[in-house]
Amino acid sequence: MPADVIDLADARIRRGDHMVRGTAADGMVRAIAVTARQTVQTAHENHGTSPLVSAALGRLMMAGLMMGALFKNPDELITLEVRGDGPIGGLTVTANNHGQVKGFANDPHVWLPLNGRGKLDVGGGLGRGTLTVVRDMPSSMPYSSQTELVTGEIGDDLAAHFSLSDQVPTSVGVGVLVDTDTSIRQAGGFIVQLMPGYEPFLVDELERNLQGVSSVTNLLEEGMTPTAILEHILRGLDYQELEVMPAEFHCGCNEERASRAVLALGEDELRDMVEKGETAEVYCHFCGRRHHLSPDELTALLNPDA
Ligand SMILES: [Zn+2]
Repeated sequence: MPADVIDLADARIRRGDHMVRGTAADGMVRAIAVTARQTVQTAHENHGTSPLVSAALGRLMMAGLMMGALFKNPDELITLEVRGDGPIGGLTVTANNHGQVKGFANDPHVWLPLNGRGKLDVGGGLGRGTLTVVRDMPSSMPYSSQTELVTGEIGDDLAAHFSLSDQVPTSVGVGVLVDTDTSIRQAGGFIVQLMPGYEPFLVDELERNLQGVSSVTNLLEEGMTPTAILEHILRGLDYQELEVMPAEFHCGCNEERASRAVLALGEDELRDMVEKGETAEVYCHFCGRRHHLSPDELTALLNPDA
């Protein structure tokens, strides 16, 4: 493909939700950033999330998007599960390597007063608990690791996860700004990691750069793109962009999967429903869609060869 065709495709991707991936300091730093307003808005609309839960779920979804995009294996899936004793109860997010993410909250409708800093109290909503990261590779057994929540604000918890489970010094920023009408105004995040063999001076350099960063949503409000955010965080460290990719809320549920779920109820149960003229409903937790199977469709399921 000629370079100008690639540029046009890139420009189109950069207009919507997207991620950029890059490196700095001769490969000793790897970084990724995302803007995902529409993705979080879709989750808000699908699940009817309150502003607090939009922020909690949105932060975890963006973490999932970025972690999925950092994998080398295109078939790998990542699932992030937060379980806490706060009123939200828990969050579940699944993302792939292609910028697609889906997720839900145990209770999407929780409201709490703003925290002491005047922000949505995500840490209070989740409470004390755990973060579990499950990596699913088609060729091997799923690999999972669990860490205690540090603050329940998601960014800190993921940074702790990377440091404890993977022994990779990591800085994570994720933020969602909710408008007064509960729609999503801004959503974005970044992950910056020090690769094995990094020079110790990079720790101080990065800390100094990050000190000036108030929050991701402030940077987005100033009009910064993911590229500009990484250039800002990695200033003086020779940031090189490697890739831009789209991001979206996507759930792969469909009629066929719904049929399989109904079949799992067992033949007796299905015959009973057909006799009573009942419609089967399969609810997808991830996207909130309801799939319906009429008595005729159930009959067809029972007699696949007819
Ligand atoms: Zn679904």
